[in-house]
Amino acid sequence: MEKRQERYRGKAKTVYATDDPQHLIMHYRDDVSAFDGAKLAKLDRKGETNNRINAYVMGKLSAAGVPTHFVRLLNERDSLVKAMKMLPVECVVRNVCAGSMAKRYGIEEGTRLPEPIFEFFLKNDALHDPLVNDDHIRILGWANADEIAQMKKMTHEVNALLKPMFETAGIVLVDYKLEFGHTLDNPQGPLVLGDEFTPDGCRLWDVKTGEKLDKDRFRRDLGDVIEHYREVARRIGAPL
Ligand code: UDP
Repeated sequence: MEKRQERYRGKAKTVYATDDPQHLIMHYRDDVSAFDGAKLAKLDRKGETNNRINAYVMGKLSAAGVPTHFVRLLNERDSLVKAMKMLPVECVVRNVCAGSMAKRYGIEEGTRLPEPIFEFFLKNDALHDPLVNDDHIRILGWANADEIAQMKKMTHEVNALLKPMFETAGIVLVDYKLEFGHTLDNPQGPLVLGDEFTPDGCRLWDVKTGEKLDKDRFRRDLGDVIEHYREVARRIGAPL
């Protein structure tokens, strides 16, 4: 698969065209960002670490029947993915209250939730990704009712697969963010999981000590960010 022109440069990944319009190359850079791009840095080995963690998790999800855009690892920092038209919303599931939910409702971070809570956010850095509901999404035309139902169902299915996987590795899956879209070759077909699953987009706490193993280490200046991402990889069995 030949890597061609740059298509899109995000905050941590760059997407390249290939010689096949149905496939793209996702390149994981060493950049890290937080607070909608207000805090930026480069972290040595971040790209290769996240590329491998994502490949491992996406592989587990596909094996369990969740359709994903991931095709295969190409090299240290590149993965081949199906070209997608993404929906402009982020899907978050929370097993433990943390981050923006703790702040919004004045609930102590670390409060266990009796059931997973699903939230939608609009993907818009300039507006700081506001929380939105099903009506906003449907009536303002960001996704239709069927797509909304599929996003909720699939995000909960991913939780049912990944929560126990992390638990076995001694890690609490506190919350995570997923993004969905349609593959270009089947734009009316079922939704497919896109983007990534890495410690950049979830919260992972050591089950015994509560130590943070995710991007909060960067957001909150806790240090040794990538060492902790690599610890996650080792514990879940993702080859580094
Ligand atoms: N998240 C993300 N990208 C975003 C916003 C959130 O990957 O633009 C992830 C975040 O890492 C966490 C979960 O979604 O695992 C819930 O994030 P929250 O709403 O608590 O926002 P935060 O306080 O992390 O900005």
